[in-house]
Amino acid sequence: FPTVTVLEIPFIKTTQAQFLTTLQQRITQQENTFVVTANPEIVMYAHEHPDYQATIQGADFVTPDGIGILNGAQILGQPLPERITGFDTLQALLTWGSDHHRSAYFVGAKPEVVAKLATRLPQAYPGLDIVGLKDGYFQDAAPIVADIAAKQPDMVFAALGFPKQENFIATHRQVTQGLWMGVGGSFDVLAG
Ligand code: UDP
Repeated sequence: FPTVTVLEIPFIKTTQAQFLTTLQQRITQQENTFVVTANPEIVMYAHEHPDYQATIQGADFVTPDGIGILNGAQILGQPLPERITGFDTLQALLTWGSDHHRSAYFVGAKPEVVAKLATRLPQAYPGLDIVGLKDGYFQDAAPIVADIAAKQPDMVFAALGFPKQENFIATHRQVTQGLWMGVGGSFDVLAG
């Protein structure tokens, strides 16, 4: 996709629908993919933290998750077509994954949220192969990363909040040939 750079972060210039098609193709082709859905808070934090900025810049796709990003692009005279949020993208991928019997690994949120997800996800997405569901308050990432590597999920969703989730993904993404995406507080929403 072409990109529009706002505060040194290159945002993809595309629609949610086109983006999803691309992600589905990449998952099908087993291409390692790192998605960041960046809101203004993430962009500002990256602006002040060079290491985190480099991590975001190393993602395959950064989407505009927030009207503030669209406004920024508009002011630069390079408008972006629409918001592409983490929650919408997560839901769309889970629906597609359920329809196409893809596997997904969930890491993040509090243990009680994860307990609810263990019931709700199979109900909402019956065709989805849920190969991992771990809370986000682990001390040592190594056993979780080893489990992800063993399960080889098509999709890994990390709900650890920023900057933790992007740092986790950037450090460990090479253990699979699938998609990795940080989804912030989305597990809390999914759990209801
Ligand atoms: N979280 C986590 N581990 C941590 C810190 C946060 O799993 O060490 C989870 C938290 O429970 C919540 C999610 O990360 O489900 C997102 O938190 P928040 O809404 O604060 O982050 P944001 O959406 O702003 O990235």
